[in-house]
Amino acid sequence: MEKLYEGKAKVLFPEGPDTLRVYFKDEATAFNARKRGIIPGKGVVNNKVSAALFRHLEAHGIKTHFLEELSDREMRVLRVEILPLEVILRFRAAGSFAKRYGVKEGTPLKAPLVEFSLKSDALGDPLICPEAILALDLAGEEELSQVKATTLRVGELLRDFFAQRGLDLIDFKLEFGKRNGEILLADEISPDTMRLWDQRTGEPMDKDRFRKDLGGEAEAYQEVLRRVLKG
Ligand code: UDP
Repeated sequence: MEKLYEGKAKVLFPEGPDTLRVYFKDEATAFNARKRGIIPGKGVVNNKVSAALFRHLEAHGIKTHFLEELSDREMRVLRVEILPLEVILRFRAAGSFAKRYGVKEGTPLKAPLVEFSLKSDALGDPLICPEAILALDLAGEEELSQVKATTLRVGELLRDFFAQRGLDLIDFKLEFGKRNGEILLADEISPDTMRLWDQRTGEPMDKDRFRKDLGGEAEAYQEVLRRVLKG
């Protein structure tokens, strides 16, 4: 079937007027696609982890674009118009945040922090403040406060979910879409878009293994899936 869109980690296929089929690939990129590789089995893990997390969030009142799993690597989702924002929630300093402010990775933050980046490969996803989001009309005031409140609630739910599975949720990225005026959580939630550290060893169990050439990324992804599905 003809593709609607092919991104770095997923392919979108059109279905009816209201739904899409998402196919999760094993291709991995980092540093604005300057680093490329394959993590064998990643697509299966990301599909199944995203599906399980969307179901968990839906069960706790979060509205998402997720409809159903179709196969090991595919899910059906509602078509939405993606807001051009990456919404990041941080519990501890890591990655670009730790670098920007010169703090050690793992430093706990006094309160969960929501940050926004403009989704733009050409510009390297620059940080954007809420005032600039409103000034550029990338989202309305009401929408932005809803996105922020939902992200904080998703953070609480996911932090508890992973803590029960021996994983420390350090930070994550969400994307939201609009459908008939309603804001829905969209995209994926997977080890590609979160930092998860093993509570016992402190080892990263996410895409940082690939970004930092730590090795064992395929095994870490499988372990995250195993723990997510353990229920
Ligand atoms: N993240 C993502 N996509 C991006 C940028 C970040 O999924 O384009 C995730 C990343 O995996 C991490 C969180 O958002 O869990 C915060 O990432 P950060 O801003 O520290 O950027 P990074 O260091 O990953 O470039």
